[in-house]
Amino acid sequence: MRNTSVVIPTLVRIKAGALDRIGVYARRGQFARAVLLHNKELDQTLVDRVNQSLAENDIGVLSRVEVLSSSFEHAQEIFQSLPPKTDVIIGMGGGKALDVAKYAAFLTRLPYIAVPTALSNDGFCSPQSSLDFKGKRRSFASAMPYGVVVDTEVCLNAPRILWLAGIGDSVAKITSVYDWKLAFRIKGTQVDDFAALLSDATVFQLMAKPDHDLEGMRLLATALMLNGIAMEICGSSRPASGSEHLISHALDLICEKPRLHGLQVGVATYMVSQLQGRGTDRIAALLEATGFFDGLRQDPFIRKEWEAAFKAAPAIKSDFYTILSENDKTEELVRIMMTDPRLQGVFI
Ligand SMILES: [Zn+2]
Repeated sequence: MRNTSVVIPTLVRIKAGALDRIGVYARRGQFARAVLLHNKELDQTLVDRVNQSLAENDIGVLSRVEVLSSSFEHAQEIFQSLPPKTDVIIGMGGGKALDVAKYAAFLTRLPYIAVPTALSNDGFCSPQSSLDFKGKRRSFASAMPYGVVVDTEVCLNAPRILWLAGIGDSVAKITSVYDWKLAFRIKGTQVDDFAALLSDATVFQLMAKPDHDLEGMRLLATALMLNGIAMEICGSSRPASGSEHLISHALDLICEKPRLHGLQVGVATYMVSQLQGRGTDRIAALLEATGFFDGLRQDPFIRKEWEAAFKAAPAIKSDFYTILSENDKTEELVRIMMTDPRLQGVFI
Protein backbone atom coordinates (compact mmCIF):
# COMPACT_ATOMS: atom_id res chain seq x y z
CA MET A 1 0.00 0.00 0.00
CA ARG A 2 1.35 3.44 -0.86
CA ASN A 3 2.39 5.54 2.09
CA THR A 4 -0.36 8.17 2.28
CA SER A 5 1.76 10.72 4.12
CA VAL A 6 4.96 10.83 2.09
CA VAL A 7 7.60 13.05 3.65
CA ILE A 8 10.39 14.32 1.46
CA PRO A 9 13.22 16.69 2.39
CA THR A 10 12.41 20.40 2.23
CA LEU A 11 16.04 21.37 1.94
CA VAL A 12 18.42 19.66 -0.50
CA ARG A 13 21.89 21.02 -1.22
CA ILE A 14 24.38 18.82 -3.06
CA LYS A 15 27.41 20.85 -4.06
CA ALA A 16 31.02 21.68 -3.27
CA GLY A 17 31.31 23.99 -0.26
CA ALA A 18 27.82 23.21 1.10
CA LEU A 19 29.33 22.47 4.52
CA ASP A 20 30.26 26.12 5.03
CA ARG A 21 26.70 27.21 4.31
CA ILE A 22 24.85 25.04 6.83
CA GLY A 23 24.26 28.08 9.03
CA VAL A 24 22.68 29.93 6.09
CA TYR A 25 20.40 26.96 5.33
CA ALA A 26 19.42 26.55 8.99
CA ARG A 27 18.70 30.26 9.28
CA ARG A 28 16.47 30.11 6.20
CA GLY A 29 14.59 27.25 7.87
CA GLN A 30 14.08 29.65 10.81
CA PHE A 31 16.01 27.49 13.23
CA ALA A 32 17.92 29.11 16.09
CA ARG A 33 19.05 26.35 18.47
CA ALA A 34 20.74 23.26 17.13
CA VAL A 35 22.18 20.09 18.54
CA LEU A 36 25.08 18.71 16.53
CA LEU A 37 25.74 14.97 16.51
CA HIS A 38 28.79 13.54 14.78
CA ASN A 39 31.01 10.47 14.73
CA LYS A 40 33.73 10.50 17.37
CA GLU A 41 36.39 9.90 14.74
CA LEU A 42 35.19 12.60 12.34
CA ASP A 43 37.86 15.03 11.14
CA GLN A 44 37.73 17.96 13.58
CA THR A 45 38.24 20.53 10.81
CA LEU A 46 34.90 19.49 9.28
CA VAL A 47 33.15 19.90 12.64
CA ASP A 48 34.83 23.31 13.05
CA ARG A 49 33.58 24.43 9.64
CA VAL A 50 30.00 23.57 10.57
CA ASN A 51 30.34 25.26 13.96
CA GLN A 52 31.73 28.38 12.35
CA SER A 53 28.94 28.54 9.78
CA LEU A 54 26.31 28.12 12.50
CA ALA A 55 27.95 30.81 14.67
CA GLU A 56 28.17 33.28 11.76
CA ASN A 57 24.44 32.89 11.26
CA ASP A 58 23.52 33.21 14.94
CA ILE A 59 22.47 29.60 15.33
CA GLY A 60 23.24 28.53 18.87
CA VAL A 61 24.70 25.06 19.33
CA LEU A 62 23.07 23.87 22.56
CA SER A 63 25.15 20.74 22.64
CA ARG A 64 27.63 18.83 20.56
CA VAL A 65 27.43 15.07 20.95
CA GLU A 66 30.00 12.53 19.88
CA VAL A 67 28.19 9.41 18.73
CA LEU A 68 30.11 6.44 20.13
CA SER A 69 28.12 3.53 18.80
CA SER A 70 25.06 2.75 16.74
CA SER A 71 23.32 0.90 19.56
CA PHE A 72 19.63 1.41 20.17
CA GLU A 73 20.38 2.18 23.84
CA HIS A 74 22.89 4.90 22.91
CA ALA A 75 20.35 6.49 20.54
CA GLN A 76 17.81 6.54 23.38
CA GLU A 77 20.32 8.02 25.82
CA ILE A 78 21.06 10.79 23.34
CA PHE A 79 17.35 11.40 22.86
CA GLN A 80 16.85 11.69 26.62
CA SER A 81 19.73 14.13 27.03
CA LEU A 82 18.65 16.56 24.30
CA PRO A 83 18.27 20.12 25.66
CA PRO A 84 14.56 21.06 25.84
CA LYS A 85 14.85 24.13 23.61
CA THR A 86 16.46 22.33 20.66
CA ASP A 87 14.69 23.20 17.41
CA VAL A 88 16.82 21.26 14.93
CA ILE A 89 19.09 18.22 15.07
CA ILE A 90 22.07 18.11 12.75
CA GLY A 91 23.70 14.73 12.15
CA MET A 92 27.09 14.74 10.53
CA GLY A 93 29.58 12.10 9.43
CA GLY A 94 29.21 8.46 8.46
CA GLY A 95 26.39 5.97 8.84
CA LYS A 96 26.59 5.51 12.61
CA ALA A 97 26.09 9.16 13.58
CA LEU A 98 23.45 9.69 10.92
CA ASP A 99 21.41 6.66 11.98
CA VAL A 100 21.53 7.69 15.63
CA ALA A 101 20.73 11.34 14.89
CA LYS A 102 17.86 10.36 12.61
CA TYR A 103 16.39 8.07 15.26
CA ALA A 104 16.75 10.67 18.04
CA ALA A 105 15.00 13.19 15.75
CA PHE A 106 12.23 10.69 15.08
CA LEU A 107 11.64 10.19 18.82
CA THR A 108 11.56 13.94 19.50
CA ARG A 109 9.69 14.75 16.26
CA LEU A 110 12.22 17.51 15.67
CA PRO A 111 13.43 18.43 12.17
CA TYR A 112 16.66 16.73 11.26
CA ILE A 113 19.39 17.77 8.83
CA ALA A 114 21.60 14.97 7.46
CA VAL A 115 25.14 15.93 6.53
CA PRO A 116 26.89 12.82 5.20
CA THR A 117 30.64 13.24 4.80
CA ALA A 118 30.95 10.13 2.62
CA LEU A 119 28.51 8.39 0.28
CA SER A 120 28.83 4.74 1.26
CA ASN A 121 25.13 3.77 1.36
CA ASP A 122 21.59 5.06 0.91
CA GLY A 123 20.86 5.42 4.63
CA PHE A 124 21.36 9.18 4.90
CA CYS A 125 17.95 9.92 3.41
CA SER A 126 15.78 6.89 4.18
CA PRO A 127 12.81 6.39 6.50
CA GLN A 128 14.70 3.82 8.59
CA SER A 129 17.55 3.81 11.09
CA SER A 130 19.91 0.89 11.23
CA LEU A 131 20.79 0.33 14.90
CA ASP A 132 22.29 -2.49 16.98
CA PHE A 133 19.71 -4.06 19.24
CA LYS A 134 20.72 -6.90 21.58
CA GLY A 135 23.87 -7.49 19.57
CA LYS A 136 22.16 -7.58 16.19
CA ARG A 137 21.76 -4.95 13.51
CA ARG A 138 18.12 -4.06 12.98
CA SER A 139 16.11 -1.53 11.04
CA PHE A 140 13.87 0.80 13.03
CA ALA A 141 11.17 3.00 11.58
CA SER A 142 12.53 6.53 11.59
CA ALA A 143 11.87 10.00 10.19
CA MET A 144 12.87 11.27 6.78
CA PRO A 145 15.26 14.20 7.13
CA TYR A 146 14.01 17.76 6.84
CA GLY A 147 17.26 18.58 5.08
CA VAL A 148 20.01 16.83 3.15
CA VAL A 149 23.28 18.72 2.79
CA VAL A 150 26.03 16.97 0.85
CA ASP A 151 29.33 18.75 0.32
CA THR A 152 30.61 16.94 -2.77
CA GLU A 153 34.16 18.15 -2.14
CA VAL A 154 34.17 16.66 1.36
CA CYS A 155 32.80 13.36 0.00
CA LEU A 156 35.39 13.34 -2.76
CA ASN A 157 38.14 13.63 -0.13
CA ALA A 158 36.76 10.70 1.88
CA PRO A 159 38.51 7.31 1.41
CA ARG A 160 37.86 5.95 -2.08
CA ILE A 161 36.60 2.63 -0.70
CA LEU A 162 33.57 4.43 0.80
CA TRP A 163 32.69 5.74 -2.65
CA LEU A 164 32.96 2.21 -4.07
CA ALA A 165 30.59 1.03 -1.33
CA GLY A 166 28.11 3.73 -2.37
CA ILE A 167 28.36 2.53 -5.98
CA GLY A 168 27.65 -1.03 -4.75
CA ASP A 169 24.57 0.01 -2.77
CA SER A 170 23.32 2.01 -5.75
CA VAL A 171 23.74 -0.69 -8.41
CA ALA A 172 21.75 -3.05 -6.16
CA LYS A 173 18.56 -1.28 -7.21
CA ILE A 174 18.60 -3.22 -10.49
CA THR A 175 18.33 -6.60 -8.74
CA SER A 176 16.07 -5.37 -5.93
CA VAL A 177 13.49 -3.99 -8.37
CA TYR A 178 13.62 -7.29 -10.30
CA ASP A 179 13.04 -9.25 -7.06
CA TRP A 180 10.13 -6.98 -6.20
CA LYS A 181 8.45 -7.65 -9.54
CA LEU A 182 9.16 -11.36 -9.19
CA ALA A 183 7.48 -11.31 -5.76
CA PHE A 184 4.46 -9.68 -7.40
CA ARG A 185 4.24 -12.36 -10.09
CA ILE A 186 4.68 -15.30 -7.72
CA LYS A 187 3.19 -14.07 -4.45
CA GLY A 188 1.12 -11.05 -5.37
CA THR A 189 3.33 -8.67 -3.38
CA GLN A 190 2.12 -5.16 -4.17
CA VAL A 191 4.50 -3.20 -6.40
CA ASP A 192 4.40 0.57 -6.32
CA ASP A 193 5.09 1.42 -9.96
CA PHE A 194 6.39 4.92 -9.33
CA ALA A 195 8.77 3.84 -6.55
CA ALA A 196 10.09 1.01 -8.75
CA LEU A 197 10.55 3.35 -11.70
CA LEU A 198 12.32 5.98 -9.61
CA SER A 199 14.65 3.43 -8.07
CA ASP A 200 15.56 1.89 -11.43
CA ALA A 201 16.11 5.31 -12.99
CA THR A 202 18.69 6.34 -10.39
CA VAL A 203 21.12 3.68 -11.62
CA PHE A 204 20.89 4.99 -15.19
CA GLN A 205 21.58 8.50 -13.92
CA LEU A 206 24.68 7.28 -12.18
CA MET A 207 25.85 5.36 -15.24
CA ALA A 208 25.95 8.62 -17.17
CA LYS A 209 29.08 9.60 -15.27
CA PRO A 210 30.40 7.03 -12.81
CA ASP A 211 33.52 9.06 -12.05
CA HIS A 212 35.37 9.76 -8.84
CA ASP A 213 35.09 13.53 -9.20
CA LEU A 214 32.76 16.31 -8.07
CA GLU A 215 30.14 15.65 -10.73
CA GLY A 216 30.31 11.88 -10.09
CA MET A 217 29.75 12.58 -6.37
CA ARG A 218 26.75 14.76 -7.18
CA LEU A 219 25.18 12.00 -9.28
CA LEU A 220 25.85 9.34 -6.65
CA ALA A 221 24.46 11.50 -3.82
CA THR A 222 21.35 12.21 -5.89
CA ALA A 223 20.90 8.52 -6.77
CA LEU A 224 21.22 7.38 -3.14
CA MET A 225 18.90 10.12 -1.92
CA LEU A 226 16.21 9.25 -4.48
CA ASN A 227 16.43 5.58 -3.45
CA GLY A 228 15.60 6.65 0.08
CA ILE A 229 12.66 8.63 -1.24
CA ALA A 230 11.46 5.63 -3.27
CA MET A 231 11.32 3.66 0.01
CA GLU A 232 9.37 6.47 1.65
CA ILE A 233 6.88 6.60 -1.24
CA CYS A 234 5.94 2.93 -1.04
CA GLY A 235 6.43 2.46 2.68
CA SER A 236 8.78 -0.49 2.24
CA SER A 237 12.44 -1.22 1.58
CA ARG A 238 11.57 -3.18 -1.58
CA PRO A 239 12.77 -0.59 -4.15
CA ALA A 240 16.22 -0.52 -2.53
CA SER A 241 16.69 -3.99 -1.14
CA GLY A 242 16.24 -7.49 -2.54
CA SER A 243 18.11 -10.80 -2.56
CA GLU A 244 21.49 -9.02 -2.73
CA HIS A 245 20.69 -7.31 0.58
CA LEU A 246 19.64 -10.61 2.15
CA ILE A 247 23.11 -11.99 1.39
CA SER A 248 24.71 -8.89 2.91
CA HIS A 249 22.52 -9.10 6.04
CA ALA A 250 23.49 -12.77 6.38
CA LEU A 251 27.17 -11.80 6.09
CA ASP A 252 26.68 -9.23 8.87
CA LEU A 253 25.52 -12.05 11.13
CA ILE A 254 28.08 -14.64 10.02
CA CYS A 255 31.33 -12.78 9.45
CA GLU A 256 33.74 -12.17 12.23
CA LYS A 257 34.44 -8.77 10.70
CA PRO A 258 31.60 -7.71 8.39
CA ARG A 259 32.72 -5.36 5.64
CA LEU A 260 31.14 -2.17 4.38
CA HIS A 261 27.48 -2.76 3.54
CA GLY A 262 27.80 -1.40 0.00
CA LEU A 263 30.84 -3.56 -0.83
CA GLN A 264 29.01 -6.74 0.21
CA VAL A 265 25.84 -5.64 -1.55
CA GLY A 266 27.64 -4.68 -4.79
CA VAL A 267 29.27 -8.10 -5.21
CA ALA A 268 26.05 -9.89 -4.25
CA THR A 269 24.20 -7.80 -6.86
CA TYR A 270 26.57 -8.90 -9.59
CA MET A 271 26.09 -12.54 -8.55
CA VAL A 272 22.31 -12.62 -8.09
CA SER A 273 21.79 -10.80 -11.41
CA GLN A 274 23.18 -13.95 -13.01
CA LEU A 275 20.49 -16.01 -11.26
CA GLN A 276 17.88 -13.52 -12.40
CA GLY A 277 19.22 -13.80 -15.93
CA ARG A 278 19.18 -10.11 -16.69
CA GLY A 279 21.01 -6.87 -16.00
CA THR A 280 24.42 -8.47 -15.50
CA ASP A 281 26.08 -6.56 -18.35
CA ARG A 282 24.82 -3.21 -17.07
CA ILE A 283 25.88 -4.02 -13.53
CA ALA A 284 29.30 -5.26 -14.63
CA ALA A 285 29.83 -2.17 -16.80
CA LEU A 286 29.23 0.17 -13.87
CA LEU A 287 31.32 -1.87 -11.44
CA GLU A 288 34.20 -2.12 -13.90
CA ALA A 289 34.08 1.56 -14.85
CA THR A 290 34.49 2.52 -11.20
CA GLY A 291 37.24 0.00 -10.40
CA PHE A 292 34.93 -1.73 -7.90
CA PHE A 293 36.38 -5.24 -8.32
CA ASP A 294 39.97 -3.94 -8.21
CA GLY A 295 39.17 -2.17 -4.96
CA LEU A 296 37.90 -5.42 -3.47
CA ARG A 297 40.96 -7.40 -4.56
CA GLN A 298 43.07 -5.29 -2.21
CA ASP A 299 41.24 -6.83 0.74
CA PRO A 300 39.40 -9.94 -0.49
CA PHE A 301 36.31 -11.49 1.04
CA ILE A 302 36.39 -14.93 2.71
CA ARG A 303 34.83 -17.64 0.49
CA LYS A 304 33.61 -19.79 3.37
CA GLU A 305 31.73 -16.92 4.96
CA TRP A 306 29.99 -16.15 1.68
CA GLU A 307 29.02 -19.77 1.18
CA ALA A 308 27.41 -19.79 4.63
CA ALA A 309 25.67 -16.50 3.81
CA PHE A 310 24.21 -17.93 0.57
CA LYS A 311 22.64 -20.70 2.64
CA ALA A 312 21.33 -18.40 5.36
CA ALA A 313 20.11 -15.55 3.14
CA PRO A 314 16.62 -16.81 2.14
CA ALA A 315 15.56 -17.11 5.80
CA ILE A 316 16.81 -13.66 6.85
CA LYS A 317 13.44 -11.99 6.29
CA SER A 318 10.11 -13.74 6.57
CA ASP A 319 7.49 -13.16 3.90
CA PHE A 320 10.04 -11.62 1.53
CA TYR A 321 10.05 -13.44 -1.79
CA THR A 322 13.16 -13.08 -3.98
CA ILE A 323 15.04 -15.09 -6.59
CA LEU A 324 16.64 -16.97 -3.66
CA SER A 325 13.24 -18.27 -2.51
CA GLU A 326 12.61 -20.50 -5.53
CA ASN A 327 14.96 -23.31 -4.60
CA ASP A 328 18.35 -23.61 -2.94
CA LYS A 329 20.70 -21.43 -4.99
CA THR A 330 23.81 -22.04 -2.87
CA GLU A 331 25.50 -24.35 -5.35
CA GLU A 332 24.94 -22.01 -8.26
CA LEU A 333 26.21 -19.01 -6.33
CA VAL A 334 29.29 -20.91 -5.19
CA ARG A 335 29.98 -21.85 -8.80
CA ILE A 336 29.75 -18.18 -9.83
CA MET A 337 32.00 -17.16 -6.94
CA MET A 338 34.64 -19.73 -7.91
CA THR A 339 34.59 -19.43 -11.69
CA ASP A 340 33.40 -15.98 -12.78
CA PRO A 341 36.41 -14.23 -14.37
CA ARG A 342 35.48 -10.83 -12.88
CA LEU A 343 35.49 -12.32 -9.38
CA GLN A 344 39.00 -13.74 -9.59
CA GLY A 345 40.94 -12.41 -6.60
CA VAL A 346 37.81 -10.94 -5.01
CA PHE A 347 37.54 -13.96 -2.68
CA ILE A 348 40.16 -16.02 -0.89
ZN1 LIG B 1 21.66 -0.91 1.09
